[in-house]
Amino acid sequence: MTTLITLPDTGDVVSTVPKRLFIAGAWVDALAGDTLPVEDPATGEVLCHVADGRAEDGQRAVAAAVAAQAEWARTAPRARSEILRRAYEIVLSRTDELARLMTLEMGKPLAEARGEVAYAAEFLRWFSEEAVRVEGGFATLPDGRNRMLLMRQPVGPCLLITPWNFPLAMGARKIGPAVAAGCTMVLKPAPQTPLSSLALAEILAEAGLPAGVLNVVPTSRAGEVVEPLLRGGQIRKLSFTGSTQVGRILLAQCAEKVVRPSMELGGNAPFIVFDDADLDTAVAGAMVAKMRNMGEACTAANRFFVHRSVADEFAARLAERMGALVVGPGTQPGVDVGPLIDRTGRGKVEELVADAVAHGARVLVGGVVPDGPGYFYPPTVLAGVADDSQLLRTEIFGPVAAILTFDDEDDIVSVANDTEWGLVGYVFTRDLDRALRVSERLEVGMVGLNTGLVSNPAAPFGGVKQSGLGREGGRVGIDEFLEYKYVAVPV
Ligand code: ADP
Repeated sequence: MTTLITLPDTGDVVSTVPKRLFIAGAWVDALAGDTLPVEDPATGEVLCHVADGRAEDGQRAVAAAVAAQAEWARTAPRARSEILRRAYEIVLSRTDELARLMTLEMGKPLAEARGEVAYAAEFLRWFSEEAVRVEGGFATLPDGRNRMLLMRQPVGPCLLITPWNFPLAMGARKIGPAVAAGCTMVLKPAPQTPLSSLALAEILAEAGLPAGVLNVVPTSRAGEVVEPLLRGGQIRKLSFTGSTQVGRILLAQCAEKVVRPSMELGGNAPFIVFDDADLDTAVAGAMVAKMRNMGEACTAANRFFVHRSVADEFAARLAERMGALVVGPGTQPGVDVGPLIDRTGRGKVEELVADAVAHGARVLVGGVVPDGPGYFYPPTVLAGVADDSQLLRTEIFGPVAAILTFDDEDDIVSVANDTEWGLVGYVFTRDLDRALRVSERLEVGMVGLNTGLVSNPAAPFGGVKQSGLGREGGRVGIDEFLEYKYVAVPV
């Protein structure tokens, strides 16, 4: 057994985590010898350097995945299941180390990082359970003269591309079903947060995943590495989580060789509070829907629509709760809100708030960037946001709640749906008819009804419209990695 990383109390978690590419079961340098820096967003300082893959390294990784595919597809489902189960247990047993590593490279407070470790582990457990429940079918066809045999087979070598905001969970949410289905894969993590993915790869190897089944290629040249792989004809599936803008580029690249895509893209979540809502529940839900991960989540509430009769009270209570949060480095005890991912991310939030204020919004709390190092932005509540403000039409990806008022249910459903995105919506009401009516009418893949949290490994996560294609997690999550084969057999 290898030791992944040392305990936080006794050493530096960063120094012992693997920092090379993982190809065909071996830790290797990039062929050109490049490395990329990994920054701590709480200080802006470099934590370490990691091998920086180029196109040729991507090709090596795909070759390893292709070479391992046939044998891996023949592996007994129970064997694949037990690898995931062991990985689940190892991940949980290393919660503190993994959480600390994630906090250092990504910024989220340790308590949230621990929550993400549990969430990531849960995907491994869920798909260890699904691995042995893949069912085909058999039927006599309506004409009575033919039989239909349905097989389920792995789609083949997959390319998995993950974002920086949930560096461990997004990897586990893709690796889990791919392993369960019998696919091999190449994982390209976000350049800001490669350490969590490398740690996860080491854990899966320790859990018994055969060489070549999972290959990991961090790179600062995503386009240069990914495009030839999608156009090369050997990758059969792409599972991508990231921005809609990049998703569109990748869909176009998938078209050439008809690579099967799953896309978890951006969101512009409406958070609707009706006049009959329980305000305590609504404020608590708003805190989760807005502040989980400092607002750096595609599920983050982006537009708060509050019925005029309760808007002032909701805004005041939310501002009080937001203003009480402690901002600081995620590694420090008692911190609620860590830094944003980088200077660019924070700069975008600053611009969006300035634009909203220029259009007439009132800042109830926050709105001023603190002095000092790191990419911190304070929890901010804006009331009286005007319809033509930029932040209503783009993902804020930061701790800023933009509040608008409404009078009429029909109107607000239309306004909520007036966006190209459709990932998630949040609805707060105590009227059951209204709850179901609005849930049905919202053009989204998920609804939080009197709750600010929808993510769960046992539920199908995903969006409609330009928020994506396909679902991750739930009973259907594994389907994205399986093909049907129909065999016709005459009676
Ligand atoms: P964000 O803006 O939140 O970083 P991105 O969509 O840019 O979201 O990034 C999500 C993932 O997509 C990351 O792993 C990133 O490296 C990758 N990525 C970005 N641009 C490309 C591209 N042109 N081709 C392939 N992957 C890309």
